[in-house]
Amino acid sequence: MSIAFSGDFMHLVTGTISHETNVFSTIRTDLEEFKKRLLLRGEEVIEHFKGTKTPVGGLLDGCEEHGLELVPTIYASATPSGKITDEAFETLLGEMLDGIRAARPIDGVVLHLHGAGVSESCDDIEGRILSEVRNLIGGDVPLVSTFDLHANHTRLMVEMADVLIGYDTYPHIDGYDRGLEAVRLVKRLIDGSLKPTKAFRQPSMMPALQAQFTGRPPMTRLMEAAHEMEAREGVETITVAAGFPWSDFEDAGLSIIVTTNDDQRLADACADELSGLAWSLRRDFLVRPTPVREAIRRVRATEEGPIVLADIGDNPGGGAPCDGTVVLKAVLEAGLEDGVFAVIADLEAVRMAVKAGVGNEVTMELGGKTDELHGAPLRVTGLVRLISDGKFVAKGPMGTGSERDMGRTAVLRVGGVDLIVTDKRLQPTDLQLYRSLGIEPTEKRFIVVKSSVHYRAAHEPIAKEVIELDTPGLTSPRLAGFGFRKIRRPIFPLDVEMLGITELKTMEEE
Ligand SMILES: [Zn+2]
Repeated sequence: MSIAFSGDFMHLVTGTISHETNVFSTIRTDLEEFKKRLLLRGEEVIEHFKGTKTPVGGLLDGCEEHGLELVPTIYASATPSGKITDEAFETLLGEMLDGIRAARPIDGVVLHLHGAGVSESCDDIEGRILSEVRNLIGGDVPLVSTFDLHANHTRLMVEMADVLIGYDTYPHIDGYDRGLEAVRLVKRLIDGSLKPTKAFRQPSMMPALQAQFTGRPPMTRLMEAAHEMEAREGVETITVAAGFPWSDFEDAGLSIIVTTNDDQRLADACADELSGLAWSLRRDFLVRPTPVREAIRRVRATEEGPIVLADIGDNPGGGAPCDGTVVLKAVLEAGLEDGVFAVIADLEAVRMAVKAGVGNEVTMELGGKTDELHGAPLRVTGLVRLISDGKFVAKGPMGTGSERDMGRTAVLRVGGVDLIVTDKRLQPTDLQLYRSLGIEPTEKRFIVVKSSVHYRAAHEPIAKEVIELDTPGLTSPRLAGFGFRKIRRPIFPLDVEMLGITELKTMEEE
């Protein structure tokens, strides 16, 4: 145990291994996938996040506010994809543990984890990370972690950490605030004013992503109830994690963690109440997306846009390949004009566009190359309008100030559509994506995004209408079709009959 002398800085160590694993994805998540998105070590972490409205940005500002020093180990994040290779996971975990060892003596550990990571041989990587860190630092040093709203919390995670703090928003716009909160609570653990007592509940529910939007019911009701409880005397923090179904292991799905100050009964009572509320709202967690042809009719009928069309089946933010052609084919066949398509990830296509050069025409087989679920490659001919390095800084409400990198990017004019083709898979969450490419999204009649919910933060304020498209793919809300193997049963919405919700059966079979 370390002793902090007055006048000395107390030390908090931080680290991140973040991945949302869609076990149905054919994309292997090796170290290269982490390097492609973000893999930082030591001081690089601070340089990268200083001044940003991100979870680590919140940790940094929180530490400054409370006179603590934040010691970074690693920050590793890969775009959602298939299982993490054992080699990648063990390497990253080893580096994090080495970093913590080297930083000793320390006063606390505050991690930023995702909560839905699966490796080749571990279904609960966050449980493993927290166990190893706990082992290393011992029972007396505070261990706190922030989590994504899509975390699949497990009993092991809850036991190993002193306090777990999940995002309250989806789109995730409160990561910075949760970072600040984590530092505030770790400080109280250090000074002994917080003795955490926790209750953990997992109602039999595994809602699809689109139903987890916190800007409408049922999530607004759950979050309002949680916030009301957080104002009660003795309640410290409450996490309502909507979960990530496609991790397909026993603990995937919605969960609730209530942390009180030395009052187990209060924690249990609050957790039971929230769990009951979630269960009572289960019917509202169903998603009814719009057929693509119906959406196209609505775009045609509109005088002014933009109408935002969300390809919710091919969301790279949920592990889908981002090269699906179903919507693009329909839009081009319908001859819709004045639209922008964000994005198709296809490195080969970008290379062909670069080779053709700006101002020239190019014909290519585009997209549909990763798997069989998202449409076939589509033959397109277009004018190369622009080539870019694909880098921009986010200005919208999500991760404000952070750097984004689409990899080499080409804009093709195909028919009446500005088609953005990228090297990397990336969910359009910020309007700078368009503007950095010379495209003004507010002037378009329609915008196609590959995203489940995150697009809403930046796009809703400019959208005349938002339509969730019923598209096939790895993030389709039609969960019954996935062939889940490991998830606990019965669970909503897979076992509607066993759960006495027979009226839902029709929807899943539609
Ligand atoms: Zn998330």
